[in-house]
Amino acid sequence: MTPIFANSAAVPAPEATILRHGRWRRVPLCVRYGLIRHPQQGPVLIDTGYTHHSLAGPGRSVGLRLYSRLLSPHLIAAGQPEAFLARHGLEPRDIRHIIVTHYHADHISGLGLFPQARFLANGAAFARIMARSGWQNLRHGVFPELLPHGFADRLDPAESCPTVQVPNLPPGRDLFGDGTVVAIDLPGHADGHFGLAFPKAACPFLYGVDTQWLGAALDPARSPIWPARLIAEMPGSLTPSTAILRRFRDAGGDVMLCHDPHPHSLDDVS
Ligand SMILES: [Zn+2]
Repeated sequence: MTPIFANSAAVPAPEATILRHGRWRRVPLCVRYGLIRHPQQGPVLIDTGYTHHSLAGPGRSVGLRLYSRLLSPHLIAAGQPEAFLARHGLEPRDIRHIIVTHYHADHISGLGLFPQARFLANGAAFARIMARSGWQNLRHGVFPELLPHGFADRLDPAESCPTVQVPNLPPGRDLFGDGTVVAIDLPGHADGHFGLAFPKAACPFLYGVDTQWLGAALDPARSPIWPARLIAEMPGSLTPSTAILRRFRDAGGDVMLCHDPHPHSLDDVS
């Protein structure tokens, strides 16, 4: 079982801010999210990407408006969840599970599109977000207003799933109890941030989400120092989390990052 990924938006970012020794030219970062066709659970989404809810939804807070203007994402119509799912014969109401890798706006923006879904995410991180002030959340790019009504009741904490060992990775959480999708804690970027390993895929695959922005930054000599570390929730954990991805890749595994603009074999091209 292997996921496929859509690209919901292009976000221009100066390469030098996300890659040590990078150039100051702007690179169009992707905002990927994924679809799994699980034999028992049915279609499962991995995050939702950027959607109009972040950019034009009614009643948005001043903080969210400022954040969106700062990043100025360009939404890609064909990569929005409704269009992506339709290409695969699905509607939003078909989605019963969404894996939320972390609570940044570009990962949770479209959760409100899925009234039938339950959410597999870090429950402890959610509790901390709810206990923080709006300013503290804004500083880390978290906007609880994007979480759908009743999120807490539909949340299945990933950390409650059984622990399982995956080759060439630290122990993770077996999200569906069959070893197909394993959440691997990758602290640093955001509170509760985890990646997803697919040990039963034809080629062992790890979705490293936002551990780094660019694949080139997995090289320790090119991991960014500033300002990427400034906006990280736990900057001291970025280096060890990046090393987890690098070791997996060096052992022959396939690693994808959410924002790397280089095409990947698991990108949806239909
Ligand atoms: Zn993020």
